[in-house]
Amino acid sequence: MLKLTPLFSGSRGNCTLIQSQNTNILLDVGYSYKKLLLALQSKNLTPKDIHAIVITHEHDDHICALPMWTKYKMDTQIYVPKPIVNCIATRSYSPFVEGVSGSFVVGDIAVDVYECSHDSQACCGYRFSVDNESIASVTDTGCYNDELVAFLAPCKAVQLESNHDVTMLMQGRYPYPLKRRISSPFGHLSNDQCAELLQKLIGTSVKKVVLAHLSENNNTAELAFDTINKMYQKNNVIEGKDVQLYVASQHTVGETID
Ligand SMILES: [Zn+2]
Ligand SMILES: [Zn+2]
Repeated sequence: MLKLTPLFSGSRGNCTLIQSQNTNILLDVGYSYKKLLLALQSKNLTPKDIHAIVITHEHDDHICALPMWTKYKMDTQIYVPKPIVNCIATRSYSPFVEGVSGSFVVGDIAVDVYECSHDSQACCGYRFSVDNESIASVTDTGCYNDELVAFLAPCKAVQLESNHDVTMLMQGRYPYPLKRRISSPFGHLSNDQCAELLQKLIGTSVKKVVLAHLSENNNTAELAFDTINKMYQKNNVIEGKDVQLYVASQHTVGETID
């Protein structure tokens, strides 16, 4: 049994709870420690129940709560992409930071790593498996490739970035260099790119999809949902029957996907 709960997701901060029968993992701890505690509380959990924290990359929206977390629970094992071990160790004040480059194990969960294309020192997406079941989360990647399709294909549920609507981004108030950064191959996946990626996953094991890391300024939950749903409709895939689509929120703890 594997469960994924988006505790909060978006440009302000990201945190996803991954659970098996015996193991609880937090994937990223962005936003504030207080918000994180409240989100955990809503799932009847406290920091004591968390066996490990897995970090995607060193941007603030993924690690903001780390220093406070380690102040109150110093002994949590923290797994990070190898190139950012020193950066995270310094910023978290934790002696329990371990760099990963390949697969690793947390409790009864096997974790596989996908290298994202993002403008950080390193950034990883992760696939979590127990027995023959897998779920994955990949955000903060400016493009996708066949390797990512193959990485996601065995999963029953995936959380994917659907960061921005291209028109909203280009017509919005962001300065031009920032618009270029976000839409570059080292930025974030747009709704359209997310739809293209999900189209390649039709016919695979993927039956539940969480759209995540939505931009507060350049996207809406409706736009992201509609873009992906239209792609499914064109391919005769019925949302709610053949595949279930969820949108992770910045402000509300999401539904648990199992
Ligand atoms: Zn980032
Ligand atoms: Zn991010």
